[in-house]
Amino acid sequence: MASDLHFLVIPLMCPGHLIPMVDMAKLIAQQSVSVTIVITPRNAQRYGSVLDRAITSGLPIRILTLPFPASESGLPEECEGFDDLPSFNLAKNFSDACAKLQQPLEQLVGELNPTPNCIISDKHLPWTADVAEKHQIPWVIFDGMSCFTQLATHNLCVSKIHEKMADSDPFIVPGLPDKIVMTKSQLPELLNPGDNANSKELKTVFEHARATELRAYGTVFNSFEALEGRYIDDYKELKQGKVWCIGPFSQSNKNDLDKAQRGNKASINDHNYMNWLDSQLPGSVMYACFGSLARLSPPQFTELALGLEESGFPFILVVNRRTRAEEIEKWVAEDGFEERVKGRGVLVRGWAPQVLILSHRAVGAFLTHCGWNSSIEGLCAGVPMVTWPQFEDQFFNEQVVVQVAGTGVAVGARTPVPYLAEEGVVGVQVKREDVCKAVKVIMDGGLEAEERRQKAKYFKEMAGKAIKEGGSSEINLKLFIQDIMLHTNKRVLEWQSGQRVLADLFRVP
Ligand code: UDP
Repeated sequence: MASDLHFLVIPLMCPGHLIPMVDMAKLIAQQSVSVTIVITPRNAQRYGSVLDRAITSGLPIRILTLPFPASESGLPEECEGFDDLPSFNLAKNFSDACAKLQQPLEQLVGELNPTPNCIISDKHLPWTADVAEKHQIPWVIFDGMSCFTQLATHNLCVSKIHEKMADSDPFIVPGLPDKIVMTKSQLPELLNPGDNANSKELKTVFEHARATELRAYGTVFNSFEALEGRYIDDYKELKQGKVWCIGPFSQSNKNDLDKAQRGNKASINDHNYMNWLDSQLPGSVMYACFGSLARLSPPQFTELALGLEESGFPFILVVNRRTRAEEIEKWVAEDGFEERVKGRGVLVRGWAPQVLILSHRAVGAFLTHCGWNSSIEGLCAGVPMVTWPQFEDQFFNEQVVVQVAGTGVAVGARTPVPYLAEEGVVGVQVKREDVCKAVKVIMDGGLEAEERRQKAKYFKEMAGKAIKEGGSSEINLKLFIQDIMLHTNKRVLEWQSGQRVLADLFRVP
């Protein structure tokens, strides 16, 4: 689809949002739409190599940077991403720092040539709606979650059924295509805020973002119809149309380098664990990773590690180095864990090239915290999952994986990790025997495990087809672009007819 269109993409600076938006930018640019991504200097460096390769390959993408007001917002100077925060109690400061970009962004948009035909920004940046309105540009939300989450959240906000429930009483989430049973304590902050002041403040931030969503021209989702078609249909009906599912975005990374460098500099050490994976039997390895934000407490990490060891299956376990890493390392050394599992288990310290690992033939299952990206990446890789949600929309995503797609087994997490609580108060929520049991159930090759594996393969095939020529997401992307094109043309015609009326008015007889 050749066009003169120009889209502005403004991501929230957090890996789980920035990574998919960079992938999305590539997919849009492949449709011959020029894309300008606005990020901060450190993020431009962090995500630059994937983008530079896309630009060198001829895609019409450019990166513009705005300095991030970290220190004037009470954040450490080098902090330009949500995952850089020394404590999540600084979440509000981060949100305030982002909002300070409004004025510089307004100026930048005014200077852009050609003027963008559309602004796609993260729904957690509600002030971008003001920028779009000021410049009379349609504002499209990037929703980093699933249509399932959106629909469930809407139905709960309207019915308020959870408000009458005790924390651990199961109830059916109303108005969904499947029978989905949850508890109040599994619900995200917006619906079930914690007691502390930070939690309440964050609820207000989420409520503001949700109220602003009503001003959006439309929404794009990192999802695809074969996965949650009925949820998409219902959500579209609710939104009266302008909802486009154009994912899975991770599928835009075709070669190993793009997969490896997605998001961060991977701690690959010359790919030594990729070599180890090469030596493992197909489908034999469990890959465990908790995304970019979740921070397992040291005692919880110990239970996870010992559960994996006890299961007897080979594994890769990613150790997030951001919180209390020394305590975790101390346990690893004193317990002799790494030595004991040598040859059978690998610890990856820091950032793992997740999509590259998941695409390796040796990986047989994925133990995930159910971030939406990880959930969808697991589905794209065609591997069954052990689900261990931590907070926010992750308990909804667990339902998508376990109940809707039928490719997962829940480890049994019942309550969210209170990530806004003081670091250190979180103890053990899931025991090693639960981990071991869930891993065995998913890997044991029994009838149910085989059924799950077949379903996982089906979703891999469907995810691959979705963004290919003629696939549902590729068609949706074309429809989205067409919609913006028609909107632009309509605006031009309106402007021209306005000019004619003016000319007629002032014509000298
Ligand atoms: N990711 C990765 N390596 C890591 C940790 C995370 O590549 O070591 C990527 C992962 O592939 C996904 C994103 O970071 O694309 C995390 O997003 P998700 O929504 O799963 O979770 P969040 O980090 O937002 O909790």
